Amino acid sequence: MKDPVLKKVISKRQTKMKKRDVQERIKGFEEVALGYSEEEAVEEAKRCLDCKKPLCVSGCPVEINIPGFIKAIKKRDYKGSLRVLKEKNSLPAVCGRVCPQEDQCEKACILNKKGNPINIGALERFAADHGKETGKTDTYPSKARRKTHEARRSKVAVIGAGPSGLTCAADLAKMGYKVTVFESLHEAGGVLVYGIPDFRLPGSIMEEEVGFIRSLGVEIKLNTVVGKSVSIEKLRKDGYRSFFIGTGAGLPYFLGIEGENLNGVYSANEFLTRVNLMKAYMFPEYDTPVRIGNNIAVIGAGNVAMDSARCAKRLGAKNVTIIYRRTEKEMPARREEIENAKEEGIKFELLTSPLKIFGTDDGWVRSMECQRNKLGDPDSSGRRRPVPIEGEILNIGVDTVICAIGQGPNPLLISTMPELKKNKKGAIDANVETGATSMEDVFAGGDIVTGAATVIQAMGAGKRAARTIDGYIKSKYGN
Ligand code: FAD
Ligand code: SF4
Repeated sequence: MKDPVLKKVISKRQTKMKKRDVQERIKGFEEVALGYSEEEAVEEAKRCLDCKKPLCVSGCPVEINIPGFIKAIKKRDYKGSLRVLKEKNSLPAVCGRVCPQEDQCEKACILNKKGNPINIGALERFAADHGKETGKTDTYPSKARRKTHEARRSKVAVIGAGPSGLTCAADLAKMGYKVTVFESLHEAGGVLVYGIPDFRLPGSIMEEEVGFIRSLGVEIKLNTVVGKSVSIEKLRKDGYRSFFIGTGAGLPYFLGIEGENLNGVYSANEFLTRVNLMKAYMFPEYDTPVRIGNNIAVIGAGNVAMDSARCAKRLGAKNVTIIYRRTEKEMPARREEIENAKEEGIKFELLTSPLKIFGTDDGWVRSMECQRNKLGDPDSSGRRRPVPIEGEILNIGVDTVICAIGQGPNPLLISTMPELKKNKKGAIDANVETGATSMEDVFAGGDIVTGAATVIQAMGAGKRAARTIDGYIKSKYGN
Protein backbone atom coordinates (compact mmCIF):
# COMPACT_ATOMS: atom_id res chain seq x y z
CA MET A 1 0.00 0.00 0.00
CA LYS A 2 1.48 3.31 -1.14
CA ASP A 3 -0.61 5.89 0.74
CA PRO A 4 1.00 6.12 4.23
CA VAL A 5 -2.05 7.88 5.75
CA LEU A 6 -4.36 5.10 4.55
CA LYS A 7 -1.90 2.49 5.76
CA LYS A 8 -1.90 4.08 9.21
CA VAL A 9 -5.73 4.17 9.34
CA ILE A 10 -6.02 0.53 8.30
CA SER A 11 -3.42 -0.71 10.74
CA LYS A 12 -5.08 1.02 13.72
CA ARG A 13 -6.78 -1.53 16.01
CA GLN A 14 -10.50 -1.45 16.85
CA THR A 15 -11.44 0.60 19.93
CA LYS A 16 -12.87 -1.90 22.43
CA MET A 17 -15.87 -0.96 24.52
CA LYS A 18 -15.27 -0.86 28.28
CA LYS A 19 -17.21 -3.18 30.56
CA ARG A 20 -18.34 -2.94 34.17
CA ASP A 21 -16.07 -4.77 36.63
CA VAL A 22 -17.12 -8.41 37.07
CA GLN A 23 -17.35 -8.40 40.87
CA GLU A 24 -19.49 -5.29 40.74
CA ARG A 25 -21.75 -6.41 37.91
CA ILE A 26 -22.75 -9.82 39.33
CA LYS A 27 -24.28 -8.05 42.31
CA GLY A 28 -26.98 -6.37 40.27
CA PHE A 29 -28.70 -5.73 36.96
CA GLU A 30 -26.74 -2.62 35.90
CA GLU A 31 -25.69 -2.61 32.26
CA VAL A 32 -22.46 -4.55 31.62
CA ALA A 33 -21.19 -2.87 28.45
CA LEU A 34 -20.44 0.78 29.17
CA GLY A 35 -20.50 2.29 25.68
CA TYR A 36 -18.00 4.63 24.03
CA SER A 37 -17.00 8.02 25.33
CA GLU A 38 -17.21 10.83 22.76
CA GLU A 39 -13.45 10.65 22.11
CA GLU A 40 -13.51 6.87 21.70
CA ALA A 41 -16.42 7.10 19.26
CA VAL A 42 -14.70 9.74 17.12
CA GLU A 43 -11.44 7.70 17.17
CA GLU A 44 -13.27 4.60 16.00
CA ALA A 45 -15.25 6.53 13.38
CA LYS A 46 -11.99 7.84 11.93
CA ARG A 47 -10.98 4.27 11.09
CA CYS A 48 -13.91 3.91 8.63
CA LEU A 49 -12.73 4.12 5.01
CA ASP A 50 -16.09 5.49 3.76
CA CYS A 51 -15.94 2.86 1.01
CA LYS A 52 -17.45 3.67 -2.40
CA LYS A 53 -19.13 0.25 -2.37
CA PRO A 54 -19.72 -0.28 1.36
CA LEU A 55 -19.85 -4.02 1.98
CA CYS A 56 -21.11 -3.38 5.52
CA VAL A 57 -24.46 -2.10 4.16
CA SER A 58 -25.04 -5.35 2.27
CA GLY A 59 -24.59 -7.16 5.60
CA CYS A 60 -27.30 -5.06 7.31
CA PRO A 61 -30.83 -6.57 7.09
CA VAL A 62 -32.40 -3.07 7.19
CA GLU A 63 -29.80 -1.44 4.88
CA ILE A 64 -28.67 1.38 7.16
CA ASN A 65 -26.38 3.91 5.47
CA ILE A 66 -23.50 2.79 7.69
CA PRO A 67 -20.69 4.94 6.24
CA GLY A 68 -23.13 7.88 6.35
CA PHE A 69 -23.86 7.67 10.06
CA ILE A 70 -20.21 6.96 10.88
CA LYS A 71 -19.04 9.96 8.82
CA ALA A 72 -21.38 12.21 10.83
CA ILE A 73 -19.82 10.93 14.10
CA LYS A 74 -16.38 11.69 12.65
CA LYS A 75 -17.58 15.28 12.13
CA ARG A 76 -19.06 15.30 15.66
CA ASP A 77 -22.49 15.85 14.12
CA TYR A 78 -24.21 13.36 16.42
CA LYS A 79 -27.75 14.49 15.70
CA GLY A 80 -27.04 14.08 11.99
CA SER A 81 -25.68 10.62 12.68
CA LEU A 82 -28.85 9.63 14.54
CA ARG A 83 -30.95 11.07 11.72
CA VAL A 84 -29.20 8.80 9.20
CA LEU A 85 -29.69 5.79 11.49
CA LYS A 86 -33.37 6.50 12.07
CA GLU A 87 -34.06 6.74 8.34
CA LYS A 88 -33.91 2.95 8.31
CA ASN A 89 -34.00 1.88 11.93
CA SER A 90 -36.52 3.05 14.52
CA LEU A 91 -34.67 1.21 17.33
CA PRO A 92 -30.94 2.13 17.03
CA ALA A 93 -30.21 2.06 20.79
CA VAL A 94 -31.59 -1.49 20.86
CA CYS A 95 -29.76 -2.71 17.76
CA GLY A 96 -26.50 -1.10 18.90
CA ARG A 97 -26.73 -3.32 21.98
CA VAL A 98 -28.16 -6.67 20.93
CA CYS A 99 -27.69 -7.14 17.16
CA PRO A 100 -25.26 -9.91 16.21
CA GLN A 101 -23.11 -7.44 14.21
CA GLU A 102 -20.28 -9.99 14.13
CA ASP A 103 -22.46 -12.08 11.77
CA GLN A 104 -23.83 -9.14 9.80
CA CYS A 105 -22.41 -5.66 9.01
CA GLU A 106 -19.10 -6.16 10.85
CA LYS A 107 -18.58 -9.55 9.24
CA ALA A 108 -19.00 -7.90 5.81
CA CYS A 109 -16.86 -4.81 6.61
CA ILE A 110 -13.83 -4.67 4.33
CA LEU A 111 -11.54 -4.27 7.35
CA ASN A 112 -12.71 -7.65 8.62
CA LYS A 113 -10.51 -9.23 5.93
CA LYS A 114 -7.73 -8.61 8.43
CA GLY A 115 -9.96 -9.46 11.42
CA ASN A 116 -10.20 -5.81 12.46
CA PRO A 117 -13.67 -4.53 11.39
CA ILE A 118 -15.16 -1.19 12.40
CA ASN A 119 -17.07 -1.58 15.68
CA ILE A 120 -20.33 -0.58 13.98
CA GLY A 121 -22.56 -1.74 16.84
CA ALA A 122 -20.69 0.39 19.39
CA LEU A 123 -20.93 3.45 17.12
CA GLU A 124 -24.66 2.92 16.54
CA ARG A 125 -25.16 2.67 20.29
CA PHE A 126 -23.08 5.81 20.84
CA ALA A 127 -25.15 7.89 18.37
CA ALA A 128 -28.43 6.71 19.93
CA ASP A 129 -27.24 7.19 23.53
CA HIS A 130 -25.71 10.59 22.83
CA GLY A 131 -29.08 11.72 21.45
CA LYS A 132 -30.80 10.48 24.61
CA GLU A 133 -28.29 12.11 26.96
CA THR A 134 -28.49 15.47 25.22
CA GLY A 135 -32.24 15.34 24.61
CA LYS A 136 -31.72 15.27 20.86
CA THR A 137 -33.41 12.00 19.92
CA ASP A 138 -36.13 13.64 17.89
CA THR A 139 -34.55 13.60 14.46
CA TYR A 140 -37.82 13.22 12.60
CA PRO A 141 -38.59 16.43 10.66
CA SER A 142 -41.47 18.30 12.29
CA LYS A 143 -43.11 18.90 8.90
CA ALA A 144 -43.16 15.17 8.20
CA ARG A 145 -44.47 14.52 11.73
CA ARG A 146 -47.32 17.01 11.24
CA LYS A 147 -48.21 15.09 8.11
CA THR A 148 -48.36 11.80 10.04
CA HIS A 149 -50.79 13.42 12.51
CA GLU A 150 -52.95 15.28 9.98
CA ALA A 151 -53.23 13.21 6.83
CA ARG A 152 -54.70 10.14 8.48
CA ARG A 153 -55.32 7.48 5.87
CA SER A 154 -56.83 3.99 6.38
CA LYS A 155 -56.73 2.27 9.76
CA VAL A 156 -54.25 -0.57 10.20
CA ALA A 157 -54.04 -2.95 13.18
CA VAL A 158 -50.67 -4.32 14.27
CA ILE A 159 -50.81 -7.29 16.62
CA GLY A 160 -47.80 -7.66 18.92
CA ALA A 161 -45.52 -4.84 20.13
CA GLY A 162 -42.22 -6.66 19.58
CA PRO A 163 -39.56 -5.32 17.20
CA SER A 164 -41.43 -6.56 14.09
CA GLY A 165 -44.75 -4.99 15.09
CA LEU A 166 -43.24 -1.72 16.34
CA THR A 167 -41.17 -1.29 13.16
CA CYS A 168 -44.16 -2.02 10.93
CA ALA A 169 -46.28 0.42 12.95
CA ALA A 170 -43.65 3.21 12.80
CA ASP A 171 -43.19 2.86 9.04
CA LEU A 172 -46.94 2.83 8.37
CA ALA A 173 -47.42 5.89 10.59
CA LYS A 174 -44.72 7.74 8.64
CA MET A 175 -46.66 6.89 5.47
CA GLY A 176 -49.73 8.54 7.03
CA TYR A 177 -51.74 5.51 8.18
CA LYS A 178 -53.71 5.49 11.40
CA VAL A 179 -52.05 2.64 13.25
CA THR A 180 -53.11 0.86 16.43
CA VAL A 181 -50.82 -1.71 18.02
CA PHE A 182 -52.50 -4.36 20.20
CA GLU A 183 -50.24 -5.95 22.81
CA SER A 184 -51.18 -8.67 25.27
CA LEU A 185 -48.64 -7.70 27.97
CA HIS A 186 -48.69 -4.56 30.11
CA GLU A 187 -45.56 -3.17 28.41
CA ALA A 188 -44.58 -2.72 24.77
CA GLY A 189 -41.34 -4.21 23.43
CA GLY A 190 -41.91 -7.99 23.14
CA VAL A 191 -38.81 -10.01 23.99
CA LEU A 192 -36.90 -6.76 24.42
CA VAL A 193 -38.81 -6.11 27.65
CA TYR A 194 -39.82 -9.55 28.87
CA GLY A 195 -36.80 -11.60 27.77
CA ILE A 196 -33.55 -9.67 27.44
CA PRO A 197 -32.34 -8.61 30.91
CA ASP A 198 -31.62 -5.02 31.95
CA PHE A 199 -27.88 -5.74 32.22
CA ARG A 200 -27.86 -6.18 28.42
CA LEU A 201 -30.67 -3.82 27.45
CA PRO A 202 -31.87 -1.40 30.15
CA GLY A 203 -35.63 -0.88 30.33
CA SER A 204 -35.21 2.88 29.95
CA ILE A 205 -33.84 2.35 26.40
CA MET A 206 -37.00 0.59 25.30
CA GLU A 207 -39.20 3.26 26.93
CA GLU A 208 -37.39 5.89 24.89
CA GLU A 209 -37.74 3.98 21.63
CA VAL A 210 -41.43 3.21 22.24
CA GLY A 211 -41.94 6.90 23.10
CA PHE A 212 -40.58 7.86 19.66
CA ILE A 213 -43.01 5.47 17.96
CA ARG A 214 -45.92 6.87 19.98
CA SER A 215 -44.84 10.38 18.99
CA LEU A 216 -45.50 9.43 15.37
CA GLY A 217 -49.17 9.08 16.29
CA VAL A 218 -49.18 5.30 16.78
CA GLU A 219 -51.67 4.20 19.44
CA ILE A 220 -50.53 1.25 21.59
CA LYS A 221 -53.30 -0.67 23.36
CA LEU A 222 -51.74 -2.78 26.11
CA ASN A 223 -53.29 -5.73 28.00
CA THR A 224 -55.21 -6.78 24.88
CA VAL A 225 -54.93 -10.38 23.69
CA VAL A 226 -56.13 -10.45 20.11
CA GLY A 227 -57.91 -13.76 19.54
CA LYS A 228 -59.19 -13.74 23.16
CA SER A 229 -60.21 -10.22 24.26
CA VAL A 230 -60.96 -9.07 20.71
CA SER A 231 -61.12 -10.96 17.41
CA ILE A 232 -59.73 -9.99 14.02
CA GLU A 233 -63.31 -10.14 12.74
CA LYS A 234 -64.40 -7.51 15.28
CA LEU A 235 -61.44 -5.29 14.37
CA ARG A 236 -62.38 -5.63 10.69
CA LYS A 237 -65.92 -4.47 11.57
CA ASP A 238 -64.36 -1.54 13.45
CA GLY A 239 -62.87 -0.35 10.17
CA TYR A 240 -59.30 -1.75 10.20
CA ARG A 241 -58.43 -2.34 6.56
CA SER A 242 -55.33 -4.43 7.07
CA PHE A 243 -53.56 -6.44 9.78
CA PHE A 244 -49.92 -7.15 10.59
CA ILE A 245 -49.32 -10.15 12.86
CA GLY A 246 -46.02 -9.99 14.75
CA THR A 247 -46.86 -12.19 17.72
CA GLY A 248 -43.43 -13.82 18.01
CA ALA A 249 -42.18 -17.21 19.14
CA GLY A 250 -43.16 -17.16 22.79
CA LEU A 251 -44.12 -20.82 23.20
CA PRO A 252 -41.36 -22.61 25.14
CA TYR A 253 -40.16 -26.06 24.12
CA PHE A 254 -39.56 -28.65 26.85
CA LEU A 255 -37.22 -31.63 27.00
CA GLY A 256 -39.94 -34.24 27.36
CA ILE A 257 -38.00 -36.13 30.05
CA GLU A 258 -39.13 -37.69 33.32
CA GLY A 259 -39.22 -35.27 36.24
CA GLU A 260 -39.81 -32.17 34.15
CA ASN A 261 -43.03 -31.44 36.05
CA LEU A 262 -41.23 -31.18 39.41
CA ASN A 263 -41.23 -27.93 41.38
CA GLY A 264 -38.10 -25.96 40.54
CA VAL A 265 -38.19 -26.62 36.80
CA TYR A 266 -38.80 -23.45 34.77
CA SER A 267 -39.03 -22.69 31.09
CA ALA A 268 -36.55 -19.90 30.35
CA ASN A 269 -39.51 -17.85 29.11
CA GLU A 270 -41.27 -18.02 32.47
CA PHE A 271 -38.08 -17.45 34.43
CA LEU A 272 -36.95 -14.45 32.37
CA THR A 273 -40.44 -12.93 32.32
CA ARG A 274 -40.62 -13.14 36.11
CA VAL A 275 -37.17 -11.63 36.47
CA ASN A 276 -37.34 -8.90 33.81
CA LEU A 277 -40.95 -7.92 33.13
CA MET A 278 -42.24 -8.65 36.65
CA LYS A 279 -39.01 -7.24 38.18
CA ALA A 280 -38.38 -10.17 40.55
CA TYR A 281 -34.85 -8.87 41.02
CA MET A 282 -36.29 -5.74 42.63
CA PHE A 283 -38.18 -7.67 45.34
CA PRO A 284 -39.49 -6.44 47.83
CA GLU A 285 -39.85 -3.11 45.97
CA TYR A 286 -41.86 -5.19 43.47
CA ASP A 287 -43.94 -7.86 45.22
CA THR A 288 -43.35 -10.50 42.53
CA PRO A 289 -40.34 -12.58 43.64
CA VAL A 290 -39.01 -15.70 41.93
CA ARG A 291 -37.75 -18.75 43.81
CA ILE A 292 -34.13 -19.48 43.08
CA GLY A 293 -32.03 -22.31 44.52
CA ASN A 294 -28.30 -22.66 45.12
CA ASN A 295 -27.40 -25.05 42.30
CA ILE A 296 -28.90 -24.18 38.96
CA ALA A 297 -28.70 -26.10 35.70
CA VAL A 298 -29.57 -24.21 32.53
CA ILE A 299 -30.23 -26.48 29.56
CA GLY A 300 -29.21 -25.00 26.17
CA ALA A 301 -26.52 -22.62 24.92
CA GLY A 302 -28.25 -19.85 22.97
CA ASN A 303 -28.72 -16.22 24.02
CA VAL A 304 -31.76 -17.27 26.05
CA ALA A 305 -29.68 -19.77 28.04
CA MET A 306 -26.87 -17.23 28.68
CA ASP A 307 -29.43 -14.63 29.83
CA SER A 308 -31.09 -17.15 32.16
CA ALA A 309 -27.77 -18.29 33.65
CA ARG A 310 -26.51 -14.74 34.21
CA CYS A 311 -29.84 -13.70 35.81
CA ALA A 312 -29.70 -16.72 38.14
CA LYS A 313 -26.17 -15.76 39.17
CA ARG A 314 -27.26 -12.20 39.95
CA LEU A 315 -30.21 -13.48 42.00
CA GLY A 316 -27.73 -15.18 44.34
CA ALA A 317 -27.36 -18.78 43.08
CA LYS A 318 -24.04 -20.30 44.21
CA ASN A 319 -23.41 -22.56 41.22
CA VAL A 320 -24.87 -21.99 37.78
CA THR A 321 -24.05 -24.53 35.07
CA ILE A 322 -24.91 -24.48 31.38
CA ILE A 323 -25.64 -28.01 30.20
CA TYR A 324 -25.11 -28.32 26.43
CA ARG A 325 -25.11 -31.40 24.26
CA ARG A 326 -22.46 -30.19 21.79
CA THR A 327 -19.18 -28.25 22.20
CA GLU A 328 -18.50 -24.52 22.58
CA LYS A 329 -17.91 -24.17 18.84
CA GLU A 330 -21.54 -25.09 18.08
CA MET A 331 -23.09 -22.82 20.74
CA PRO A 332 -25.68 -20.51 19.12
CA ALA A 333 -25.25 -17.63 21.62
CA ARG A 334 -23.30 -14.50 20.68
CA ARG A 335 -19.57 -14.94 21.41
CA GLU A 336 -19.60 -11.78 23.50
CA GLU A 337 -22.34 -13.17 25.77
CA ILE A 338 -20.55 -16.52 26.19
CA GLU A 339 -17.41 -14.61 27.26
CA ASN A 340 -19.43 -12.46 29.66
CA ALA A 341 -21.03 -15.57 31.17
CA LYS A 342 -17.62 -17.21 31.66
CA GLU A 343 -16.20 -14.07 33.28
CA GLU A 344 -19.16 -14.07 35.68
CA GLY A 345 -18.38 -17.58 36.86
CA ILE A 346 -20.99 -19.56 34.91
CA LYS A 347 -19.75 -23.14 34.48
CA PHE A 348 -20.13 -25.11 31.28
CA GLU A 349 -20.84 -28.83 31.18
CA LEU A 350 -20.41 -29.57 27.48
CA LEU A 351 -21.19 -32.69 25.41
CA THR A 352 -23.85 -33.46 28.01
CA SER A 353 -27.63 -34.09 27.63
CA PRO A 354 -30.18 -34.38 30.46
CA LEU A 355 -31.90 -37.79 30.75
CA LYS A 356 -34.03 -37.56 33.89
CA ILE A 357 -34.72 -35.16 36.77
CA PHE A 358 -35.08 -36.62 40.27
CA GLY A 359 -37.20 -35.05 43.00
CA THR A 360 -37.45 -34.92 46.79
CA ASP A 361 -40.36 -36.59 48.59
CA ASP A 362 -42.23 -33.29 48.60
CA GLY A 363 -41.86 -32.81 44.83
CA TRP A 364 -38.89 -30.44 44.44
CA VAL A 365 -35.92 -30.91 42.10
CA ARG A 366 -33.04 -32.79 43.77
CA SER A 367 -30.68 -33.93 41.01
CA MET A 368 -30.37 -34.61 37.30
CA GLU A 369 -29.05 -37.61 35.43
CA CYS A 370 -27.15 -36.77 32.24
CA GLN A 371 -25.62 -38.56 29.28
CA ARG A 372 -22.12 -37.79 27.99
CA ASN A 373 -21.81 -37.40 24.21
CA LYS A 374 -19.18 -37.21 21.53
CA LEU A 375 -19.60 -35.37 18.23
CA GLY A 376 -20.75 -37.31 15.16
CA ASP A 377 -21.49 -36.24 11.58
CA PRO A 378 -23.20 -32.91 10.80
CA ASP A 379 -27.02 -32.87 10.97
CA SER A 380 -29.51 -30.79 8.94
CA SER A 381 -28.41 -27.63 10.81
CA GLY A 382 -24.85 -28.16 9.54
CA ARG A 383 -23.57 -28.65 13.11
CA ARG A 384 -22.04 -31.93 14.22
CA ARG A 385 -24.63 -34.04 15.99
CA PRO A 386 -24.16 -35.26 19.58
CA VAL A 387 -23.80 -39.05 19.81
CA PRO A 388 -24.28 -40.68 23.25
CA ILE A 389 -21.23 -42.51 24.64
CA GLU A 390 -22.50 -45.81 25.94
CA GLY A 391 -22.29 -46.19 29.71
CA GLU A 392 -21.10 -42.63 30.37
CA ILE A 393 -23.80 -41.32 32.70
CA LEU A 394 -23.31 -38.61 35.31
CA ASN A 395 -25.45 -37.33 38.14
CA ILE A 396 -25.52 -33.62 38.95
CA GLY A 397 -26.91 -32.24 42.23
CA VAL A 398 -29.30 -29.41 41.33
CA ASP A 399 -32.29 -27.72 42.95
CA THR A 400 -33.42 -25.60 39.97
CA VAL A 401 -33.53 -26.46 36.27
CA ILE A 402 -34.13 -23.80 33.60
CA CYS A 403 -35.02 -25.15 30.21
CA ALA A 404 -33.75 -22.92 27.37
CA ILE A 405 -33.86 -25.23 24.37
CA GLY A 406 -35.92 -23.02 22.07
CA GLN A 407 -39.34 -21.52 21.48
CA GLY A 408 -42.09 -22.10 18.93
CA PRO A 409 -44.69 -19.78 17.37
CA ASN A 410 -47.12 -18.18 19.80
CA PRO A 411 -50.43 -20.03 19.14
CA LEU A 412 -52.79 -17.65 21.02
CA LEU A 413 -54.05 -15.72 18.00
CA ILE A 414 -53.28 -17.94 15.06
CA SER A 415 -55.09 -20.94 16.55
CA THR A 416 -58.28 -18.86 16.29
CA MET A 417 -57.75 -18.25 12.54
CA PRO A 418 -58.36 -21.56 10.70
CA GLU A 419 -58.29 -19.81 7.31
CA LEU A 420 -54.71 -18.62 7.93
CA LYS A 421 -52.23 -21.09 6.39
CA LYS A 422 -49.53 -22.41 8.74
CA ASN A 423 -46.43 -24.49 8.03
CA LYS A 424 -45.41 -27.81 9.58
CA LYS A 425 -43.82 -26.05 12.56
CA GLY A 426 -47.06 -24.19 13.32
CA ALA A 427 -45.64 -20.84 12.12
CA ILE A 428 -47.59 -18.58 9.75
CA ASP A 429 -46.89 -19.54 6.14
CA ALA A 430 -46.05 -16.03 4.87
CA ASN A 431 -43.93 -14.72 2.01
CA VAL A 432 -40.73 -13.57 3.76
CA GLU A 433 -40.16 -10.82 1.19
CA THR A 434 -43.63 -9.26 1.40
CA GLY A 435 -45.26 -10.62 4.54
CA ALA A 436 -48.31 -11.73 2.47
CA THR A 437 -50.30 -14.64 3.94
CA SER A 438 -53.15 -16.84 2.69
CA MET A 439 -55.58 -14.09 3.81
CA GLU A 440 -55.81 -11.04 1.56
CA ASP A 441 -55.77 -8.36 4.27
CA VAL A 442 -53.47 -10.16 6.76
CA PHE A 443 -49.66 -9.79 6.69
CA ALA A 444 -47.11 -11.28 9.05
CA GLY A 445 -43.43 -11.16 9.96
CA GLY A 446 -40.80 -11.75 12.63
CA ASP A 447 -40.51 -14.86 14.79
CA ILE A 448 -44.14 -15.89 14.17
CA VAL A 449 -43.08 -16.59 10.56
CA THR A 450 -39.40 -17.56 10.81
CA GLY A 451 -39.37 -19.19 14.24
CA ALA A 452 -36.98 -17.80 16.89
CA ALA A 453 -34.52 -15.53 15.04
CA THR A 454 -33.05 -12.07 15.72
CA VAL A 455 -34.25 -8.56 16.52
CA ILE A 456 -33.00 -7.08 13.27
CA GLN A 457 -34.53 -9.85 11.16
CA ALA A 458 -37.87 -9.19 12.87
CA MET A 459 -37.48 -5.46 12.19
CA GLY A 460 -36.60 -6.09 8.53
CA ALA A 461 -39.76 -8.20 8.17
CA GLY A 462 -41.86 -5.43 9.77
CA LYS A 463 -40.43 -2.89 7.32
CA ARG A 464 -41.07 -5.01 4.23
CA ALA A 465 -44.62 -5.79 5.37
CA ALA A 466 -45.33 -2.06 5.90
CA ARG A 467 -44.44 -1.46 2.23
CA THR A 468 -46.69 -4.32 1.09
CA ILE A 469 -49.59 -3.16 3.29
CA ASP A 470 -49.25 0.32 1.76
CA GLY A 471 -49.41 -1.21 -1.75
CA TYR A 472 -52.37 -3.40 -0.81
CA ILE A 473 -54.42 -0.55 0.69
CA LYS A 474 -53.64 1.83 -2.17
CA SER A 475 -54.66 -0.70 -4.81
CA LYS A 476 -57.82 -1.76 -2.97
CA TYR A 477 -59.04 1.50 -1.42
CA GLY A 478 -57.00 4.25 -3.05
CA ASN A 479 -55.64 5.56 0.27
P1 FAD B 1 -41.53 -10.74 19.98
O1 FAD B 1 -40.38 -9.92 20.39
O2 FAD B 1 -41.69 -12.08 20.60
O3 FAD B 1 -42.85 -9.89 20.25
C1 FAD B 1 -44.13 -10.45 20.06
C2 FAD B 1 -45.13 -9.67 20.90
O4 FAD B 1 -46.44 -10.10 20.54
C3 FAD B 1 -44.99 -9.92 22.39
O5 FAD B 1 -44.92 -8.68 23.07
C4 FAD B 1 -46.25 -10.69 22.76
O6 FAD B 1 -46.70 -10.41 24.09
C5 FAD B 1 -47.23 -10.17 21.72
N1 FAD B 1 -48.37 -11.08 21.46
C6 FAD B 1 -48.32 -12.42 21.26
N2 FAD B 1 -49.56 -12.89 21.01
C7 FAD B 1 -50.39 -11.81 21.07
C8 FAD B 1 -51.80 -11.65 20.89
N3 FAD B 1 -52.60 -12.70 20.60
N4 FAD B 1 -52.34 -10.41 21.02
C9 FAD B 1 -51.55 -9.34 21.31
N5 FAD B 1 -50.20 -9.43 21.48
C10 FAD B 1 -49.64 -10.66 21.34
N6 FAD B 1 -32.04 -11.43 19.18
C11 FAD B 1 -30.96 -10.68 18.87
O7 FAD B 1 -30.87 -10.17 17.75
N7 FAD B 1 -29.96 -10.47 19.77
C12 FAD B 1 -30.03 -10.96 21.03
O8 FAD B 1 -29.12 -10.74 21.82
C13 FAD B 1 -31.18 -11.71 21.40
N8 FAD B 1 -31.33 -12.19 22.66
C14 FAD B 1 -32.48 -12.84 23.01
C15 FAD B 1 -32.67 -13.22 24.34
C16 FAD B 1 -33.84 -13.84 24.72
C17 FAD B 1 -34.04 -14.21 26.16
C18 FAD B 1 -34.84 -14.15 23.75
C19 FAD B 1 -36.13 -14.85 24.14
C20 FAD B 1 -34.66 -13.79 22.43
C21 FAD B 1 -33.49 -13.12 22.05
N9 FAD B 1 -33.29 -12.68 20.74
C22 FAD B 1 -32.18 -11.95 20.42
C23 FAD B 1 -34.32 -12.93 19.70
C24 FAD B 1 -35.20 -11.70 19.46
O9 FAD B 1 -35.52 -11.09 20.67
C25 FAD B 1 -36.45 -12.09 18.68
O10 FAD B 1 -36.05 -12.68 17.47
C26 FAD B 1 -37.34 -10.86 18.39
O11 FAD B 1 -37.74 -10.24 19.59
C27 FAD B 1 -38.57 -11.27 17.58
O12 FAD B 1 -39.39 -10.15 17.43
P2 FAD B 1 -40.95 -10.29 17.12
O13 FAD B 1 -41.47 -8.92 16.96
O14 FAD B 1 -41.15 -11.24 16.00
O15 FAD B 1 -41.58 -11.01 18.41
FE1 SF4 C 1 -16.55 1.69 6.83
FE2 SF4 C 1 -16.20 -1.04 6.88
FE3 SF4 C 1 -18.43 -0.02 5.81
FE4 SF4 C 1 -16.07 0.33 4.54
S1 SF4 C 1 -17.13 -1.63 4.88
S2 SF4 C 1 -17.69 1.89 4.86
S3 SF4 C 1 -14.70 0.50 6.31
S4 SF4 C 1 -17.79 0.16 7.99
